[in-house]
Amino acid sequence: MGDCGDWVRGWEHRLGLGLARAGGAQRGGQADVGTDVGTDVGGFRTRHVAATLRPGTVEQVRQIVASVPPGVVLYPISTGRNWGLGSRQPVADGAVVLDLGRLQRVRHLDTGVGAAVVEPGVTQGALAARLDGTPYMLNVTSSSAHTSVVGNALERGVGLRRQRCEDVAGLEVMLAGGRLMRLGNWPDEAGRLVPYRQELGPGLMPLFSQSNFGVVTAAVIRLLPRPQGLRLVRLAFEAPRLAAAVDELRHLMQQRLISGVLKIYPRPRTTEFRAYCCVDGDAELAEAAARLLMRRARLGRLFNDVCADPGDDPLAERLRRCLGGDPSLNEPAIQNMFGADAAGVDANPARGFLFFLPVLPFHGAAVARAHELVVQVGEQSGTWWRPTVNAISCDVIDLAISCRFPRAATGAAHQALDLLHERFAEAGWRPYRLDIDHMDAGGPPDVLRRLKETFDPAAVLAPGRYTSPATGPALGPATAVPECGPGASVSQGDDPVMSPAP
Ligand SMILES: Cc1cc2nc3c(=O)[nH]c(=O)nc-3n(C[C@H](O)[C@H](O)[C@H](O)COP(=O)(O)OP(=O)(O)OC[C@H]3O[C@@H](n4cnc5c(N)ncnc54)[C@H](O)[C@@H]3O)c2cc1C
Repeated sequence: MGDCGDWVRGWEHRLGLGLARAGGAQRGGQADVGTDVGTDVGGFRTRHVAATLRPGTVEQVRQIVASVPPGVVLYPISTGRNWGLGSRQPVADGAVVLDLGRLQRVRHLDTGVGAAVVEPGVTQGALAARLDGTPYMLNVTSSSAHTSVVGNALERGVGLRRQRCEDVAGLEVMLAGGRLMRLGNWPDEAGRLVPYRQELGPGLMPLFSQSNFGVVTAAVIRLLPRPQGLRLVRLAFEAPRLAAAVDELRHLMQQRLISGVLKIYPRPRTTEFRAYCCVDGDAELAEAAARLLMRRARLGRLFNDVCADPGDDPLAERLRRCLGGDPSLNEPAIQNMFGADAAGVDANPARGFLFFLPVLPFHGAAVARAHELVVQVGEQSGTWWRPTVNAISCDVIDLAISCRFPRAATGAAHQALDLLHERFAEAGWRPYRLDIDHMDAGGPPDVLRRLKETFDPAAVLAPGRYTSPATGPALGPATAVPECGPGASVSQGDDPVMSPAP
């Protein structure tokens, strides 16, 4: 283990908290080098992990990043609940996982302009609770309240209101070598902040989403005004009407009768689909718009059931709460799905879960074809996948295709996942987000390589994450990185293009 082992033991001593095994059990006083991060709910091949370090402050993160010895690579995570895509597992073998879950400060909360500055360990539940009773709310996802706002935004996750990257107005990034920089818009010394999403000049913030160029230690998150009125209209239709219903829903969304992210779920064990449409704003406006939406929906004769705020539908109630910025009902849903709470999802020996997340044009024909592909892959592999439509705008659908499987069927589920990648690529639809076995980067490999050299010349950070196969280390056991890293020994000199944070 050599240098890596000594370095890790040194950090164990300095952090005074030991190293954490998978599942979060902390082991004090004893180096636990060479362990893995345990099983993940996706059933991906277990990566060899050299160690896990859990710094408690940004200064500790800086010292860790700055002191990485040659050959050691770091894999930053926030709360590590990237379920269905690899959870807390790194892409490649041999990394030291840099678990930022202890950085839990809400550094700044401005309920005047609607923005918060949060560290990676701040969960959506914690921030939502801080906003309770204020005029602003968080764009929450339908995942657990114990997931990270920063981690999800860096993955360009999808909330109930919009894609999470749209929430980001500023990023604090630690570069390899230990330099901290702030991008975007931050509160000044007097706490004044303009939560503007763009940068002056070339935008650098997007370079740190779905990339391995830096460690994000905080983000400025834009909040949403809390609507005074919120109605959830449920429109049900039968499978043969899928294409026509999707086109009709797009039209209703284009005419602003639906706000936030429109969701369409197939009802398990039936041929029915249910669309959940948010109507909100001023209380009277929401009331009138809900009535209008229902009238329009009835006129089209596509929907066999049109109803607002159904009291007997737990999913509707959960979505309504999420749309109002409250993720607390997601916990019973997680418990019900996995037979475990958020902390136990990955360790559960019985239930597995995978995601495939392509984006499609918002067209009925595309959604109907995508459903056919999902059914075909399921039949071919003997697995069952559930596609949920998330209309993230009037023109784009994030089709969240998920599979729950008994762990004994992990092989079949992964075969199906490979098939989905193939079939959807043939149809011209690429994922917006990837799991640890299918990493790729869409951009030109030479440009991406130059950017990586600029930000992380020694390739210390997150090898393989959103890396083009042409530029990054090949993945898998045959090409696993040796011991603590890829053996890179480039010096950790300062990057001349970056200036230190104020
Ligand atoms: C039932 C269910 C519902 C779900 N619903 C949704 C949903 O509605 N929307 C959605 O988007 N997802 C959803 N998910 C998927 C997932 O649970 C969430 O996306 C979750 O927020 C991701 O985990 P995390 O927040 O702990 O991020 P992490 O796992 O900590 O981060 C994700 C990745 O980002 C990188 N990263 C994280 N932090 C940093 C950092 N500080 N610096 C540099 N890189 C970093 C790492 O590579 C990491 O692997 C759902 C999952 C399930 C099982």
